[in-house]
Amino acid sequence: MLKSRVLPLTLIALLGGCASDGSFDTSSALIVGASVLQATTLDARSVRETAALSAQELDSQSQVAAQTSAYGQQLQRIIQGLAPLDGLSLNYKVYLSADINAFAMADGTVRVHSALLDAMPDDQVLAVIGHEIGHVKLKHSYHQMKQVLLTNALFQGAVGVGGTIGSLTSSQLGTLAHSAVNAHFSQADELEADEFAVQLLQRQGKDPYAMKRSVETLMKKHGRGGGFLSSHPSNDDRIARIEDAISRLR
Ligand SMILES: [Zn+2]
Repeated sequence: MLKSRVLPLTLIALLGGCASDGSFDTSSALIVGASVLQATTLDARSVRETAALSAQELDSQSQVAAQTSAYGQQLQRIIQGLAPLDGLSLNYKVYLSADINAFAMADGTVRVHSALLDAMPDDQVLAVIGHEIGHVKLKHSYHQMKQVLLTNALFQGAVGVGGTIGSLTSSQLGTLAHSAVNAHFSQADELEADEFAVQLLQRQGKDPYAMKRSVETLMKKHGRGGGFLSSHPSNDDRIARIEDAISRLR
């Protein structure tokens, strides 16, 4: 139920240029005309298609492990038997990266860094993947991307009055992808995604405590913050909430 509303120019100016990588394209930011101000609603399919295009752009900038490589095959083993998500097909790749991380995007893109595969046993990787799928399933990823498209001045010229998104440059798609990778979800969203992962582990016949262990592994590797853990003020609270979610499993 999306209602059209008009953002005041000052608000757009304030929110503009909030790209996570700090980049700010002033030439695009200046394209804020009357028609652009009406573009405050977005077509859901258009958002997901844009997410897919930004994932393609990120793939082209990244070192993707071949499916036949050891990392590619390890990931295939880990995700074996995972069902599509309410009609949304999930697509998985490994990025060769020393940064311990994994992320998902609104179209069902899931990317796992090789350092994460090296950092923990497979059931814990599945827990992290389940958490990322949770962000997609619970629409956190969708709302994050929609928010960037609607509020970052870089995209004001690209969103049409009907809510469809016009063609974006590779630089714009790159900015969108980086905002998704570095998304900071609310603590409530993170805990919801943890609970989703606990349930997914159980459905897959795995030990749901792998979710708890994955957080503990990351705390050991990262200290109290960084990457996957960064949006949590208290990881002890997070672990308590995971145990709580496990106790509610039937
Ligand atoms: Zn998360």
